[in-house]
Amino acid sequence: DALIEGNHLTKVYGTATGPLVALADVSFAIEEGEFISLVGPSGCGKSTLLSILGGLEERSEGDVALDGEDLDRPRTDIGMMFQTSVLFPWRTVRQNVRLPGIVLGLDAKEQAQKCEELLDLVGLNGFGDRYPSELSGGMRQRVALARLLAHGPRVLLMDEPFGALDEFTRETMNLELLRIWEKTGKTVVFVTHNIGESVFLSDRVFVMTPRPGRLAGTIDVDLPRP
Ligand code: ADP
Ligand code: ADP
Repeated sequence: DALIEGNHLTKVYGTATGPLVALADVSFAIEEGEFISLVGPSGCGKSTLLSILGGLEERSEGDVALDGEDLDRPRTDIGMMFQTSVLFPWRTVRQNVRLPGIVLGLDAKEQAQKCEELLDLVGLNGFGDRYPSELSGGMRQRVALARLLAHGPRVLLMDEPFGALDEFTRETMNLELLRIWEKTGKTVVFVTHNIGESVFLSDRVFVMTPRPGRLAGTIDVDLPRP
């Protein structure tokens, strides 16, 4: 069975000028460990779909489930990351990464160890005692990625996570993400409006139409990874 299944998802926002259909009858299945990207023009409902998967936004109609469990609220086995990440400026890199574990009351010793492994994994070895203001944009997204992984989510929902970075840093981060994905076996759903990027990164590309967002089709990418 698929890890995530969406059936006939529809999202209608109420707006001052009347109802706005953001998603119209979207159905899909995502297997564990897949790297999926969600591509389509601005306003086609990519962020809306991702927010529904993350339990941040209610759907108007349809079903969506992880391992058969309804996704109607945020859960710790699903993590989200956005274009800009809010880090606590008065906390060090290490403290920022450890925050989810502290909030969730996870074992402190285990988390301390895990934090060091994660800092290693995202290439922040030696930066644990720095403050966010001392870091570049790319490095701040590395911190966010480590923090995202800290509570052990199975699914990473990423909404243009490197979209605010310059071209070179974005490409570096995309390669880092692929490396981490291969190493950890996470399931990734990655939103981008860049078709080149989606083909470069993913196993399958979900192509969405302009508003109202429908799934026009999926592209199976059969290219060797870098
Ligand atoms: P994308 O991520 O593909 O750019 P979004 O999911 O952000 O698309 O938006 C899809 C449509 O829904 C857009 O027309 C947007 O203006 C509208 N929309 C998004 N969020 C809201 C909201 N909270 N209230 C009303 N309309 C919204
Ligand atoms: P397009 O011409 O469609 O805009 P690009 O060739 O600019 O596509 O690539 C878009 C994105 O795809 C890049 O910003 C990068 O994130 C990713 N990408 C493409 N090729 C590479 C590569 N060789 N190494 C790393 N990332 C790449």
